[in-house]
Amino acid sequence: MSYELTIEPLGQTIEIEEGQTILDAALRAGIYLPHACCHGLCATCKVQVSDGEVEHGEASSFALMDFERDEGKCLACCATAQSDLVIEAEIEEDPDAENLPVRDFDGTVTRIESLTPTIKGVWVKLDAPMRFQAGQYANLELPGGIGSRAFSIASAPSSDGEVELNIRIVPGGQGTTYVHEKMQAGEKVRISGPYGRFFVKKSAQVPVLFMAGGSGLSSPRSMILDLLEEGFEPPITLVYGQRTRDELYYHDDFLALAEKHPNFRYVPALSNEAEGSGWSGFRGFVHEAAKAAFDNDFRGNKAYLCGPPLMIEACITTLMQGRLFERDIYTEKFISAADAQQVRSPLFKAI
Ligand SMILES: Cc1cc2nc3c(=O)[nH]c(=O)nc-3n(C[C@H](O)[C@H](O)[C@H](O)COP(=O)(O)OP(=O)(O)OC[C@H]3O[C@@H](n4cnc5c(N)ncnc54)[C@H](O)[C@@H]3O)c2cc1C
Repeated sequence: MSYELTIEPLGQTIEIEEGQTILDAALRAGIYLPHACCHGLCATCKVQVSDGEVEHGEASSFALMDFERDEGKCLACCATAQSDLVIEAEIEEDPDAENLPVRDFDGTVTRIESLTPTIKGVWVKLDAPMRFQAGQYANLELPGGIGSRAFSIASAPSSDGEVELNIRIVPGGQGTTYVHEKMQAGEKVRISGPYGRFFVKKSAQVPVLFMAGGSGLSSPRSMILDLLEEGFEPPITLVYGQRTRDELYYHDDFLALAEKHPNFRYVPALSNEAEGSGWSGFRGFVHEAAKAAFDNDFRGNKAYLCGPPLMIEACITTLMQGRLFERDIYTEKFISAADAQQVRSPLFKAI
């Protein structure tokens, strides 16, 4: 059974299946509604129901208070339709958004490689190409009742028949432990995507600065490969930090890209590399390396930040001290259900 869902102010009517969330129906129709945690906890996806009945699902009473339910509000990530619906949502126009619809794909794991002691590269061949914008992520369905987990796509959109995911093991984490210890080449998996609003604002045609740390390299890598393939002309800089040399994956590839493309600069930084190891690059954190590389003046850039929360906070402070402000800074937050419990009023929206 399905209902009609009309989304205002777009005035667009789509189908919503019984039991399907409003957010899922919208994304699968190529309509982006702002959202973040997807577990009814952070309230980013709050919308007004102006006609019809919803079931609120797992919306927490903190994210959606009783008086808001009485006023007809709901959380799109967990509300389902009980009748035809009309909702009012804040739809942001973005000239760089391709608004690609989310789809389900069957895939086969073709290759698994250790990129670092804690990060596996996983290549999945899909039954049909997944169109995505560089920087977006996919949900990987894992077996045994684990459920799905979000991973940014590390390959370029041009290789859309096979996507690469770079997966860091989270100690005690069910999904990532499965990938690291049990997943095998040849295994069948399901993937859905593309998700997210983290992509390069290409229309601006200004210099681009990527700041990445830990397993936050996936999106920037996809974005950089895409920009270079397209012949994007403004300067592109990647400042990429890890603790030690053996954690610095794709280092040789980025050196080769910098050699080949005069507008691409690669600044690797190690924060905990042993003295005398032969490392001649920058020693310190990502924000310190960026400050040195840009002589503390980031004006005119657009910066894309991806990595652990502490790195992101330090980078934002450094960028602002170097006179780059919120409208030119974009971050991808790796929010899990548990992290979302702590989300109150993020300084920056996840895009
Ligand atoms: C948009 C998005 C993109 C992402 N892209 C990537 C990517 O490219 N590569 C990648 O490795 N990861 C990425 N992540 C993070 C990844 O989704 C989580 O690491 C994964 O879901 C953890 O699953 P799990 O089952 O192992 O842990 P769970 O069993 O779900 O969690 C176990 C415990 O670990 C904590 N935890 C969960 N995730 C993290 C984390 N990332 N860091 C520290 N503690 C955590 C939880 O709060 C919980 O307490 C992304 C997340 C999002 C939302």
